[in-house]
Amino acid sequence: MPSAPAFDVIVAGLGAMGSTTLAQLARRGLRVAGFDRFAPPHALGSSHGRSRIIREAYYEDPRYVPLVQRAYAAWAELEAQSGAALLRRTGGVCYGPPDGTLVTGARRSAETHGLPHEILDADGLRRAYPVLRPDPSWIGVVEPRAGMLAPERCIAAALDVAERAGATVRRDEAVTGWHPDGDGVRVETGQGTYRAARLVLSTGAWMRETLGDLHLPLVVQRNVLYWFAPARDAGAFAPERFPVFLGDLGDGTMWYGFPDTGDGVKVAMHHHGPTTSPEGVDRTVAEDEVAAMRGRLARYLPAANGPLRETATCLYTNTPDGHFVLDRHPAAPQVVLASPCSGHGFKFASAMGEVLADLAMDRPPAFDLSLFTVGRFAARV
Ligand SMILES: Cc1cc2nc3c(=O)[nH]c(=O)nc-3n(C[C@H](O)[C@H](O)[C@H](O)COP(=O)(O)OP(=O)(O)OC[C@H]3O[C@@H](n4cnc5c(N)ncnc54)[C@H](O)[C@@H]3O)c2cc1C
Repeated sequence: MPSAPAFDVIVAGLGAMGSTTLAQLARRGLRVAGFDRFAPPHALGSSHGRSRIIREAYYEDPRYVPLVQRAYAAWAELEAQSGAALLRRTGGVCYGPPDGTLVTGARRSAETHGLPHEILDADGLRRAYPVLRPDPSWIGVVEPRAGMLAPERCIAAALDVAERAGATVRRDEAVTGWHPDGDGVRVETGQGTYRAARLVLSTGAWMRETLGDLHLPLVVQRNVLYWFAPARDAGAFAPERFPVFLGDLGDGTMWYGFPDTGDGVKVAMHHHGPTTSPEGVDRTVAEDEVAAMRGRLARYLPAANGPLRETATCLYTNTPDGHFVLDRHPAAPQVVLASPCSGHGFKFASAMGEVLADLAMDRPPAFDLSLFTVGRFAARV
């Protein structure tokens, strides 16, 4: 007979998803422990760089909209519980060719869900945001509720709430293995063996190694963030005047950016970097990468093309279809898998904590998770 679990739930990986899951479970009164290989919030995974976009007119699929709407409310709850300011509304714009994936997708979500939004042509975009230089044929979907989250503060707040509600948080203690143990699970770390009724795996870019024999088709991609000081019109980049944006550059690439909150205008490419691994990632940003970004600034946002202040390297963990994995382990239903990245997961983390806590407690989640099943990769798993 397996011995009684020491914890109701163990959460492996305390980044965006694991920290919010731990907070949810602890506040629901469960005995929970969370482990992380580092001391989150840290800059070695997918949740650093001081800002993440939250937007509602979701170009990726209208089925994300109810989830992001819940996430807005759950971020506000986490702000109230922690006393930390986490979300700043700036408004947002998705712009590019009218028939491109970004604009058509954002428009479809806005129309399907009756979201407040406005469609502006290139002249309208320039009037609204004088520093933007869209091509004359482009249009933008402007949404007032978009904004920016502070990822490190979000994770710190969730861990603080979790610990205050009684969770055990073990930093710098990596999960090195796990094994089904009757209905529960035995979890090994470098420092001991623990038992729990349920395990949530939310190890981000390390998911493939954490999953053992389950070979999910996850690909880790390097992504560089750049902060530039404005070359002119600095006031036009203030968060009261400049939105978070995604731009479809019409050549198969997409970029995104943030207002200047004091550390420069932050810009990055979406799904653009080479395949890598958390251990092997090259964190040096080459001069030709900076030059390529300057080329885009010169054409599409010239007033931001001032001195480079900072760069950072981050990791996307992509699925082949760009949607998340959020499901039970097919061979061990007491283990919940959470790989909500593919470069767009952060905004959902507050709601994801609730969903993952429901799954770990065998409660029906409040959202349709059919987009996120492991089964869709059945042929490859
Ligand atoms: C550059 C960049 C920009 C992005 N921009 C946006 C955006 O604007 N909006 C948006 O919504 N999303 C964005 N994303 C995506 C979003 O940031 C990710 O979806 C999200 O951060 C992933 O969270 P996670 O919890 O899965 O991973 P992480 O936050 O990286 O957490 C994983 C944790 O697991 C730990 N871990 C790993 N292995 C083990 C182990 N064996 N044992 C214990 N712990 C372990 C790690 O140390 C880490 O703390 C962006 C991502 C990047 C990289």
